This record gives sequence, structure tokens and C-alpha cells, in this order.
Amino acid sequence: MTARIIDGKAVARKLRAEYRVRVQQLVSAHGVQPGLAVVLVGDNAASQVYVRNKVRACEETGIRSELITLPADAPESRLLAEIDRLNADPGTHGVLVQLPLPPHIAMRRVLERISVDKDVDGFHLYNVGGLMTGTTVFPPCTPFGVQKLLEHEKVQIAGRNVVVVGASNIVGKPTAMMLMQRDATVAICHKLTRDLAQFTLLADILVVAAGVPNLIVPQMVRTGAVVIDVGINRLPDGRITGDVDFAGVAAKASLISPVPGGVGPMTVTMLLFNTIRSAERRVGIVDVSDGLGVPA
Ligand code: NAD
Repeated sequence: MTARIIDGKAVARKLRAEYRVRVQQLVSAHGVQPGLAVVLVGDNAASQVYVRNKVRACEETGIRSELITLPADAPESRLLAEIDRLNADPGTHGVLVQLPLPPHIAMRRVLERISVDKDVDGFHLYNVGGLMTGTTVFPPCTPFGVQKLLEHEKVQIAGRNVVVVGASNIVGKPTAMMLMQRDATVAICHKLTRDLAQFTLLADILVVAAGVPNLIVPQMVRTGAVVIDVGINRLPDGRITGDVDFAGVAAKASLISPVPGGVGPMTVTMLLFNTIRSAERRVGIVDVSDGLGVPA
């Protein structure tokens, strides 16, 4: 079997075109332009790239963006005051604090300060809790991107065995909860899981988010499985690779996402979606067609 390769860039492009139209409709029907505020503390090089990508994606979609940069030694109180200002600003529909934060700032206190109605990263405990009950307003962007990719490729989720390798709060755990909400049977593995292969071989859908190059080799994958590789690893020669032996596993899977060009482009796309959704909620539009739908 040779897997079909998911073109995450093309899916992201298609969704962003749809989102541009949604923004235009919000502006023309309600006079509301969605707005995203991104707060960056310090000068972490990777964070600067991520933030730039988010701002550029907003511009391309018609979303107003505001980038707030604070010095690495800014006191926590200054960051909290900035969040309070953005929470109160009616033109801002999404507030995102780029992680990681400098060590003198308590991440949880910062994330909990963001209004749950503007928590477009989905990291506030209210939205994290909503993942348990299937009523989160803003699903976290990377797991949401995985779900959208599966939906776009018309992969049946209900009743299938899903194995998630990786149990972090931002990828592994929420991905597992979201797919369980779609009636999959889910196992979560992590670095202390004994004999990883005995779990991965059960997977109809295998989602890998461990940050370990070549962790998943063909012997660990069922013939015909769907394999989603979330990992992003930089090899010593500078190349970017995922967690899956792509060539080997592609010869056995039915569908596989590459790195780069798979889940990556979807993450920012779902941030755009969450920001537009926040603005729509503000004007009373509640779209429940995607299974999300807690009234504003
Ligand atoms: P993390 O380090 O917070 O968590 C990694 C998880 O993988 C942990 O639960 C750990 O126990 C598990 N793990 C580590 N080694 C393992 C092993 N040998 N076997 C089984 N499990 C193992 O990382 P994260 O933030 O969840 O990110 C995971 C990967 O996804 C990273 O490569 C990261 O760069 C990538 N990522 C990609 C996107 C995207 O947009 N595509 C977004 C976020 C993270």
C-alpha cells in the first residue's frame, strides 16, 4: 500500500479563503472587523518567527492585528495590565500571549487573566475544562488543525481506534479529548509508555506529537492506518523533520501528513478561525455546524 499524502498547505489555503469571506461578511453586515492582539515578551528567536507568521496571516485574511512587544525583564504586573487593557478593548476579539514566557512570569496566572471570551489559543482553564465536556468555545489551535485535516480528508473518526503519542497540554492531551468527543476510542502514550508499538499497532488513526525524529517506524504501524505527524524537529544539517519515518511509513499507511507541509500550516489557520468565531459570537452569530457552539 502507498499512502495518499495530505497537502496541509492546500487545505490551509482553502480554509483561509473561506475565512476571508467570513470576515468580509462580518464587516459588511455588522461593521465589525475581527481583531487579534498578540503579546510577545522578550526576544526568543523562534517566538519572533511564530508571531510574525500570525500577524501576516491576519493581514491576508482581513483580520486586524496588534503586536505588543514587552522587554524580557518586564514585570508580570505590566503584562497583566496589558491583558486587562486588551480584555476591555471592544475592537480586540482575540488575545494571545506567545509562549514560552520568561521564568520570572507565572504562565498560569497570565493565561487565566485572558478573558475566556477572547482566549483564542484555548489555554485558559475554562476552555481546557470545556474540552472535557465537549463545550469548549476555542479549541487549541494545533489539535483543532489535526481534527480539521481529518475532517477535510473525510476520515471516519467515530468508532475508530485513535492512538496519540505525546501527552502535552497543548497537543497530545487536547487532541485525545477532541477525538474522543468525536466517538473514537483513544489511547494516549508518552515517554514512559512501555512497548510503544503494542499501542501504535492498534491505531486506525495514529497522531504523533512527541518531538522525537524517526520515533515511528513502519513495524509500529498497521497496514492502512491514517498517520498524522505533528512533530517538528530540526536535524543537525538544518532540515526540518517530523516524528515519523515518512518514506517507510508512507509505504504502509493509507493516508499520511508530511512535515513540513502537513499540520504546521493548519495551526495558524485555526487561530484565524478562533478569532473570527470570537468576533461572530460578539455580534450574536453562533455557528454550531462544527460541533462547537456555546452561546455568547
Ligand atoms: P512536549 O515536549 O511538551 O511533549 C512531548 C510529549 O511526547 C510528552 O508527553 C512526552 O512524554 C512524549 N514523548 C517524548 N518522547 C517520547 C517517546 N520516546 N515515546 C513516546 N512519547 C514520548 O512537546 P509538545 O509541545 O507537545 O510538541 C510535540 C511536538 O509537536 C514537537 O516536535 C513540537 O515541535 C511539535 N509541535 C508542532 C506544532 C505544529 O503546529 N505543527 C505545534 C506544537 C508542537
